[in-house]
Amino acid sequence: MGGGIAGASLAYRLAPHRKVILLEREAAPGYHSTGRSAAGLSENLGTRPIRALTALSRPFLAAPPKGFADAPLMKPRPWLFIARADQRDAFESHLAEARETCPVITELDADAAVKLFPLLRRDYVDRAFLEAEATDLDVDAILQGYLRGLRAQGGTLTADAEVLGIARDGALWRAATKSSTYAAPVLVNAGGAWSDETARLAGVQPVGLVPKRRTAMIVAPPDGADVSRWPEIDDVGGEFYVKPEAGKFLLSPSDETPSLPTDAQPDEMDIAIAVDRMERAMTFKVRRIERSWAGLRSFVADRTPVFGFDPGAEGFFWLAGQGGAGIQTSAGLSQAAASLILGTEWPTSLSARDVTPATFSPARFRSNP
Ligand SMILES: Cc1cc2nc3c(=O)[nH]c(=O)nc-3n(C[C@H](O)[C@H](O)[C@H](O)COP(=O)(O)OP(=O)(O)OC[C@H]3O[C@@H](n4cnc5c(N)ncnc54)[C@H](O)[C@@H]3O)c2cc1C
Repeated sequence: MGGGIAGASLAYRLAPHRKVILLEREAAPGYHSTGRSAAGLSENLGTRPIRALTALSRPFLAAPPKGFADAPLMKPRPWLFIARADQRDAFESHLAEARETCPVITELDADAAVKLFPLLRRDYVDRAFLEAEATDLDVDAILQGYLRGLRAQGGTLTADAEVLGIARDGALWRAATKSSTYAAPVLVNAGGAWSDETARLAGVQPVGLVPKRRTAMIVAPPDGADVSRWPEIDDVGGEFYVKPEAGKFLLSPSDETPSLPTDAQPDEMDIAIAVDRMERAMTFKVRRIERSWAGLRSFVADRTPVFGFDPGAEGFFWLAGQGGAGIQTSAGLSQAAASLILGTEWPTSLSARDVTPATFSPARFRSNP
């Protein structure tokens, strides 16, 4: 249930082994968070388990199976992390974490940072480091690759199919839409921001998921500037990021406003905050916002995804809480989640980092699992 990147990637992994039906409420899969992302991959992002899942995803996204996509899914886009003088503590902890989990991290002085991104103000940057192997992702190609693979392996995607009722009937879950009822021994809850609602619909205890709104906008760069090879700029304090996107800039104030699950819309105040933060850091005045949007990044309390069978409801499988890393982790997360459903081996690269099924289990939110 849920035709975003989470549901699509797991459906793809399960289709060779089980009969899979993917139900999506909207007319098009990927309409919600998946279609609104900033389309990046960084191994210096999120909790340690997220970093382990990202590392597990990378080989798949770098060299997907034959027929998955017509063009590369990844394009190099180094991320340049910057800090002001008042952000030294945040810088040190970011750098230490990055050195542990990223393949290549290089500390740069302010002059070198400005050389890479010439609009940065020299006096704004105190410290900087570069994650050379971060990349852009082609999100639509990744989503369509999973869905094409699902169909090619005998699975089905049914759009315009909002699940309105869920009930356990003997050994089966029954999920009712306005036109049909589907029955299966395993129900995967990949409802994105709605995952706690889905659990309630099924009489299953929620996990405390909080959808958080994030705003993004496209800004025209200075006339004549070719920004296509510039790095993404990430402020270590989580105040904003800027990324070249099809010859323009994608700008975000890195907002995390708690929200109900909904079709998120941008707020004028968040747009103004983003512009102000970018202009403080750069020798550049934003002349025009070409378009803006918002999407929900959903987190549980420890900000690590939730997947695994619910300890209190047989056959109810959680796949939620991917926060700001659901695209970049999709290949690894779906591989690990499929291993729990199929009873196959847990990925050894996760075990090697002490990341186990318990790390992600919904049981961690239950005092009486
Ligand atoms: C601005 C922004 C920037 C981001 N940048 C990045 C990034 O650079 N890299 C990265 O990896 N991630 C990024 N993310 C995060 C990423 O987009 C999410 O983690 C990911 O899309 C979550 O996928 P999902 O499938 O869980 O959710 P969704 O894509 O929201 O899918 C859930 C689906 O479930 C469906 N659904 C819900 N209830 C029902 C029901 N009752 N019946 C049927 N269907 C239902 C919904 O319609 C929806 O399509 C970003 C997110 C935002 C908002």
